[in-house]
Amino acid sequence: AATVRFENVSFHYDPARPILKDVSFEVPSGKTVAIVGPSGAGKSTISRLLFRFYDVTGGRILIDGQDIRDVNQASVRAAIGMVPQDTVLFNDTIAYNIRYGRPAATDAELHAAAAMAQIGGFIESLPDGYATEVGERGLKLSGGEKQRVAIARTILKAPPILVLDEATSALDTHTEREIQEALDRVSTGRTTLVIAHRLSTVVNADQIIVLEAGRIAERGTHDELIAEG
Ligand code: ADP
Ligand code: ADP
Repeated sequence: AATVRFENVSFHYDPARPILKDVSFEVPSGKTVAIVGPSGAGKSTISRLLFRFYDVTGGRILIDGQDIRDVNQASVRAAIGMVPQDTVLFNDTIAYNIRYGRPAATDAELHAAAAMAQIGGFIESLPDGYATEVGERGLKLSGGEKQRVAIARTILKAPPILVLDEATSALDTHTEREIQEALDRVSTGRTTLVIAHRLSTVVNADQIIVLEAGRIAERGTHDELIAEG
C-alpha cells in the first residue's frame, strides 16, 4: 500500500471562487479515511486532485512522500483505483470495460471480479453508449450497473490506493449492502479514500473528515463524531 498526504491544499476552478481552503490530512498506508459533508463542499474535487484530473493551486499532495506533480500522470493513475460518481464506459463489451483495469488478467480473474461486483450475468453485452450508435444491439445499463462495472474494474486492478466517490450511491439498498461488502474486502490492506454523503455508510473508517465549504470542520472516528453531536 502507500501513504497519501494532503498538505495545506487549496484549489479553485475560478480564482474568484475558492473551492478548497488549507486542507490537510493523511491516509496512512492501508488505512481508510472518509470525507463527508454537504453537497458542494468540495469532496469530489479532493478525489479529482488525487487522480490528477486537476493540479492543486496551493499546497501539495504526496504519495509516499513524493509530490504527485513530480511524477507522471499515468503512473499516479496506475497506483489508484477510482470508482467515480458517474462512470463513463468505453463503447465496447462490459468484459472489455472491466479488463481495462488490468489488461493482463486471466478470464478466471475477470469473471471473479465481475461476480464480486454482481455484474457477472451479462459481461459480453455492450453498454448503452454503443447501443445508441449502432441501433438497439446493446444493453441499457442503469447508473448502479455502470457503477458495478467500475467496481469490478477496480477489484480486478487491485491497486495500492482506492478512491471511492459515493461508490454505492446509485444502488438500491439490497445491492448496496452486497457491493459494500465487496468493497470492504477489496479495501482491506489498501489505502482507501472514501467520499460519502452520510456518516452511516462510513462507520468503519479509521478517520472521518467533515468538509464544509472547502474547509475541514471536524475530524475523528465515527463514534467520536457522533458523541460530539
Ligand atoms: P461535493 O463533492 O462536495 O458535492 P464538488 O467537489 O463536486 O463538491 O464541488 C465543489 C464546488 O465546486 C461546487 O460548488 C461545484 O459547483 C464546483 N465545481 C465542481 N466542478 C467544477 C468545475 N469543473 N468547474 C467549476 N466549478 C466546479
Ligand atoms: P490515458 O490518460 O493514458 O488514456 P488513463 O488516464 O485513463 O489513461 O488511465 C491511466 C491509468 O489509470 C491506467 O492504469 C488505468 O487502468 C487507470 N484508470 C483510469 N481510469 C480509471 C478508473 N476509473 N478506475 C481505475 N483505474 C483507472
